[in-house]
Amino acid sequence: MAEILTSKTAMELEDKYGAHNYHPLPVVLSKGKGAKVWDIEGKEYFDFLSAYSAVNQGHCHPKIIGAMVDQANTLTLTSRAFYSDALGIYEKYITELFGYDKVLPMNTGAEADETALKLCRRWAYDVKGIETDMAKIIVCANNFHGRTISIISMSTDPESKAGFGPYTPGFIVIPYNDLNALKNALEDTNVAGFLVEPIQGEAGVVVPDEGYLKTAYNMCHENNVLFIADEVQTGIARTGKMLACDHEGVHPDILILGKALSGGTYPVSAVLADDEIMLTIKPGQHGSTFGGNPVAARIATAALQVVIDENLEEKAEALGNIFRAEMKNLDSDMVELVRGKGLLNAIVIKPKNGKTAMDVCIKMAENGLLAKPTHDHIIRFAPPLVISEEELMTAIGIIRDSILSFE
Ligand code: PLP
Repeated sequence: MAEILTSKTAMELEDKYGAHNYHPLPVVLSKGKGAKVWDIEGKEYFDFLSAYSAVNQGHCHPKIIGAMVDQANTLTLTSRAFYSDALGIYEKYITELFGYDKVLPMNTGAEADETALKLCRRWAYDVKGIETDMAKIIVCANNFHGRTISIISMSTDPESKAGFGPYTPGFIVIPYNDLNALKNALEDTNVAGFLVEPIQGEAGVVVPDEGYLKTAYNMCHENNVLFIADEVQTGIARTGKMLACDHEGVHPDILILGKALSGGTYPVSAVLADDEIMLTIKPGQHGSTFGGNPVAARIATAALQVVIDENLEEKAEALGNIFRAEMKNLDSDMVELVRGKGLLNAIVIKPKNGKTAMDVCIKMAENGLLAKPTHDHIIRFAPPLVISEEELMTAIGIIRDSILSFE
């Protein structure tokens, strides 16, 4: 079907034939390269969303695309009914890189979170010795771990949760960044795990106090509870280290990765853990037709190698410092707060003359920069980590001009 599309007709098609479960900015993208994307009419934008931090290595990175195309031309899917000549090599690579005995490969972030919950429960019964069906997992208010029934069951966001019950039991919700609340929750001997985002991304890039993760990890260990880090959004160099937990020297008992594990080319996620935890799940007890397929295995290996070869951790750290300093200098009372780590940042917007964060995003899009509000009043800024300092300064100019246009 060779239709010539304009932005208008493309939006009409999505609106008419697609479910209305998203509310996109009115921009229709058709090409991406590095830190930039282009719409159907050829207008150029800086991508400051990076598909919610999936495109850390930049759009269409040639090494990742090369690995993908090469493998796609050779063998795409075996299912896990058979071995493949790509999976074991990837599993060795990723487990050695992150320091775990084993990896369980999945596709999306939500699936990896589900896998971590299942692993934690199995460990609770088989190793910790909690009575059948009594295991509990502590989670944090304002978390975001995906969209499945179990995951929304532990959500506190009415938009994600309301109207989808009945919900999965077994979760204790405590405030984020609150060690006292964690201490109290850990007194329940049926607690098996503490699932936490090292920085809460969807909540609006909420950075906990320094030392929170380390102390929480220690408290979990004192209570024989697994510390489970959801690094789907914060991982793979986004915050200036390979993992956000690395900032505090924390090695999670279960590590959840997704998004940038594929450089945004393909759904690839992973759960990493040591044998005591991972081997509680036996053949037939968990899986996915596509998880660990040869294309995903080759892509993930290439995507991680790009992060290392191009020093994306150091880049994110250095450019993030520049970004926050420049934003803090912005002389506008619409900018209430600037926060973040590495190149995962947010500005809290104070509405002015009826103009909100959405208006700022629309103005930025007109001026050639894409970002999206989260929770109405917060704008997340997360460009691909391959952005150059020069590009970043141009982008900062666009953000500044857009915000100041409302003064
Ligand atoms: N976990 C975190 C921390 C996330 O930010 C997200 C997505 O934004 C997910 C899990 C879910 O990932 P996916 O959309 O690939 O299911």
